[in-house]
Amino acid sequence: MNVLFCTSEAVPLIKTGGLADVSGALPPALHEIGVDCRVLLPGYPQVLDMAEPLHQVCELHGLPGHTSARLLQGVLPGSEVPLYVLDIPAAYDRLGGPYQDEHGHDHADNAWRFALLAKAAAMLASEATPLGWRPDVLHCNDWQTGLAPAYLHFMGAHTGTHTGSHTPSMMTVHNLAYQGIFPPEVMPRLDLPPASFAVNGIEYYGNVSFLKAGLYYANQLSTVSPTYAREIQQDTLGMGLQGLLRTRSAQLTGILNGIDTLDWNPGIDPLIPCAYRARSPGDKRTCKQRLQERMGLNVQNDAPLFGLIARMTPQKGLDLVLAVAEGIVNRGGQLVMLGTGDKLIEQAVRDTAAKHPGQVACFIGYDEALSHQIEAGSDVFLMPSRFEPCGLNQMYSLRYGAVPIVHATGGLNDTVEDGVTGFVFHHPTPHALWLAVEQALELYPIKPAWKRMMLNGMKQDFSWEHSAKAYKATYQNLIDARR
Ligand code: ADP
Repeated sequence: MNVLFCTSEAVPLIKTGGLADVSGALPPALHEIGVDCRVLLPGYPQVLDMAEPLHQVCELHGLPGHTSARLLQGVLPGSEVPLYVLDIPAAYDRLGGPYQDEHGHDHADNAWRFALLAKAAAMLASEATPLGWRPDVLHCNDWQTGLAPAYLHFMGAHTGTHTGSHTPSMMTVHNLAYQGIFPPEVMPRLDLPPASFAVNGIEYYGNVSFLKAGLYYANQLSTVSPTYAREIQQDTLGMGLQGLLRTRSAQLTGILNGIDTLDWNPGIDPLIPCAYRARSPGDKRTCKQRLQERMGLNVQNDAPLFGLIARMTPQKGLDLVLAVAEGIVNRGGQLVMLGTGDKLIEQAVRDTAAKHPGQVACFIGYDEALSHQIEAGSDVFLMPSRFEPCGLNQMYSLRYGAVPIVHATGGLNDTVEDGVTGFVFHHPTPHALWLAVEQALELYPIKPAWKRMMLNGMKQDFSWEHSAKAYKATYQNLIDARR
């Protein structure tokens, strides 16, 4: 089975968000289970530098704006996954990040830059590919690659041959909030038929939407959890695309992301003071004590310690946590929070910590080691996100025996089982969160029951192998449907 995995980011080469983690982990996991998955990335300077050695395999002509490109080949670092890099200095050799310049402004020609990537992907997936290798499935990820299914659809249409249309495409949404919306003036630069600028096409309220193009033209759609796949078809979380997603419901599936089970393994984690395993979780107590010391909390083993790690944005529901902080403290609990983001939320977090010295502590900033220490030292982990496509921290918490309390949304709903591995509440309100916190406070002193819940979580399997098998089955269905 051959799969071309087209993405704009992949760790360790280039990262701005979770898409990079998935793109760096899923292709190697697919490789492990026998899929010849190859990654296509734009030739950002960081990618060209780090992916050395690269060699040229062919040139691509006829990209949007009469552009030509060199296609380079190497391997995704740390894996055996073949990597194709689209080298177009005029488009990708820029200061700043993949989407913005060094001053934080979007590059003015992003529509063209990602049309190039999408068109290249479609060419490599078509019968006319210049490579000696052709994918059975073209897998596109997020808006940056959203035009690729449209190009495949229209490829050869003017000659009536439809050469590209035999390769099925899959579009995965990692974050529906980013849709790649551009004014209609970009249309001539995209090299798509003018007729595609329509409701039944790539038009979105008078603009062009790259993500919508993918959602409309791809044969298969997916997102990063089954619950989120349902939620994005509803008005509350559909972000304007719920109508289209509802019409494509039969082709929309949710596949949970995995986690890096080497980086996040309490049995071998070098970032925590004391390793521990599900079989002997007693050493977790040492981690708790060291966390209390580091954060200036009273060193008290019997105080239930609640942890939180999050980007401090409205999505993550920190206001709900702050609303129950006093209740936690009054019941003898402690709270530690790590994160950075909106200044107002950061300040509210600081204020709450200042009000309860020794019982509430925070660190405002990004600190990888502390994030591991919070997972290892906490008894309970709070994740009351208003929405969460997949979420990683609740999976880390389960593995580290920090019993999660989560809002029943997206991947949180799919990974935490209420009363078995954690506590799940159904309305993002302080009252509903408090009722879940109370349940945890009541169970915590009943040691055998608490330990059972911890161990149930620690035994869960969130490896990428699991996810890779689900993607492979979806690819197979697409291939079978074509036949
Ligand atoms: P999101 O991708 O929406 O931020 P996730 O739970 O999926 O949420 O992933 C967040 C990741 O970023 C986790 O690995 C988490 O530990 C990490 N993280 C977030 N904020 C911080 C921080 N301030 N310091 C260290 N790690 C952080």
